Amino acid sequence: MRGAANARREEAADKAAKGRTIEEKQYLVRFNADTRSHLHVLDPEICLTRCPDKICTIFCPAEVYKWEGARMHVGYEGCHECGSCRIGCPHENIKWEYPRGGYGVVFRLG
Ligand code: SF4
Ligand code: SF4
Repeated sequence: MRGAANARREEAADKAAKGRTIEEKQYLVRFNADTRSHLHVLDPEICLTRCPDKICTIFCPAEVYKWEGARMHVGYEGCHECGSCRIGCPHENIKWEYPRGGYGVVFRLG
């Protein structure tokens, strides 16, 4: 009986989640931000001189990368740990690691 109730609850949550936009789903992710970044732009000069499209500012679903004038700001605290920037940077200019144990994404509600 309890299993059936849990299954119904999960089904209802799943239906509710499917109706949400990606932005709404992002609000449901909880983080425990580390004091140091797990993401590193290896050579800022490459971003400045060889990457006119700054594509990391587009493909990152969490908008972690923001081009500010002449430098890349990396808001690592909001990283969803999807790993896209490991392969998405055309210059392999991002060093990506998981956050240290206990930090980063701790809970996804949807
Ligand atoms: S995609 Fe890579 S090289 Fe281009 S701006 Fe982002 S980090 Fe720099
Ligand atoms: S791992 Fe995903 S969410 Fe995190 S910075 Fe890279 S692209 Fe953005």
